[in-house]
Amino acid sequence: KFITLDGIDGAGKSTNLDTIRTWFEKHQLPVLFTREPGGTAIGEALRELLLNPATRANARTETLMIFAARQQHLDEVIKPALAQGMHVVSDRFTDATFAYQGGGRGLPLPDIAILENWVQQGLQPDLTLLLDVPLAVAQQRLSHNTSPDRFEQLDTNFFEHTRQVYLDRAAAAPQRYAIINSSLQLDAVAAQINQSLAQQFGL
Ligand code: C5P
Repeated sequence: KFITLDGIDGAGKSTNLDTIRTWFEKHQLPVLFTREPGGTAIGEALRELLLNPATRANARTETLMIFAARQQHLDEVIKPALAQGMHVVSDRFTDATFAYQGGGRGLPLPDIAILENWVQQGLQPDLTLLLDVPLAVAQQRLSHNTSPDRFEQLDTNFFEHTRQVYLDRAAAAPQRYAIINSSLQLDAVAAQINQSLAQQFGL
């Protein structure tokens, strides 16, 4: 199965990846963890460019860079792993492009869908765990972060739109998404994630 984890900055992705790791260990299922942008040598190099303020790209260029990284990631890592019978968990995937470059930076969503079709050829995650928090909670969490990256500018307008696109996409395809209320206590968030995974794997 192909599982993705997504959500706005400050939604708790890093913390909850540990929950997902623990779940796979407990059930002894073969799994590969990877991330976007990144996951390959080219992808990580593109990630460096994307995160570096000195090479800030406009929204369309940024989107092309992210899909270039994604193409390589799919061909080199994700598809081969799935073909070998491994499960794949990706820290972010195309939902982030719709949310950040579409919602946040204002690129038309149909334009992103064109690239999605071209790159993915119909391949979609089986399950997307969407960590959802109100902006105020995300900002509160990020304010403790001593080294916010270039995207973590606490721009309320940007992240309101980003969050809304995530929620709209989840509402439009509820069978693929699990919306996780990530503003609760850690163990309550973990319980929701574990339940979604169990359901997905019929366990
Ligand atoms: O997932 P992670 O926090 O490592 O992502 C690094 C940065 O890239 C984040 O600040 C995230 O908001 C940003 N990003 C983005 N557009 C994407 C994916 C990630 O702006 N499509």
